[in-house]
Amino acid sequence: MSNQAITAQRLRQCLNTAAATILAAESRLNALDSAIGDGDHGITMRLGFEAVKRSLSTLKESAEIDEVLKEAGSAFMEATGGAIGPLLGGMFIASGNALSGRNEIAPAEFKLMLQAMEASVSRMGKAKPGDKTILDAIHAGCEAVAGNMNQAIGEVCAEAAAAAATAAETTANMRSAKGRSSRLGERALGHPDPGAVSFSLILDAFATCLREGPSLTT
Ligand code: ADP
Ligand code: MG
Repeated sequence: MSNQAITAQRLRQCLNTAAATILAAESRLNALDSAIGDGDHGITMRLGFEAVKRSLSTLKESAEIDEVLKEAGSAFMEATGGAIGPLLGGMFIASGNALSGRNEIAPAEFKLMLQAMEASVSRMGKAKPGDKTILDAIHAGCEAVAGNMNQAIGEVCAEAAAAAATAAETTANMRSAKGRSSRLGERALGHPDPGAVSFSLILDAFATCLREGPSLTT
């Protein structure tokens, strides 16, 4: 399964697996945000991914890859507030725009997708790698893909997910330069960034879906 490029149908399954993963992680994400923010990150991510699931369930079967990503992004953005709502919603919309006209996601398209995600979050959040945000996980995923284009998509995605997870853990060693946690200075040290953890969970869900097929809970 993991050798095949991602079709629009498989992309929907990946997004639904991401929704299941995020819903299951709600209290963990709230706890991470309680340490350096206001404790709502898990709630916001749940609301966003519940909206993604709903919108994909009514999106026409024939929707192309770009439409699936843009629909998911719009649904996430409409359903959520906070810092992460427009950032993550805009990130999915930007990745849809980057894949306009493509009917599968092979490693080359996966790279384009992650690059568009990184550019969107960086522009909207005025963030750069090292600021202790979601961008750190996206950037690491992007770098991992760029250096690893010759494998099957499932392998490429799994390596990007592993790099994003390591980057999310590494944000614990950073002071924050963006968002609520930037007010904490030294006190943000020792705590990973919740948005970076969320992004690594999304990529990990994609890798799991490519390896094992859609989760039974989706
Ligand atoms: P809020 O901070 O409004 O309560 P959330 O708790 O849902 O929003 O999301 C917080 C996450 O948003 C942070 O962990 C960080 O990853 C991300 N974030 C916040 N501000 C920025 C920014 N300017 N650029 C990039 N990411 C950001
Ligand atoms: Mg918060």
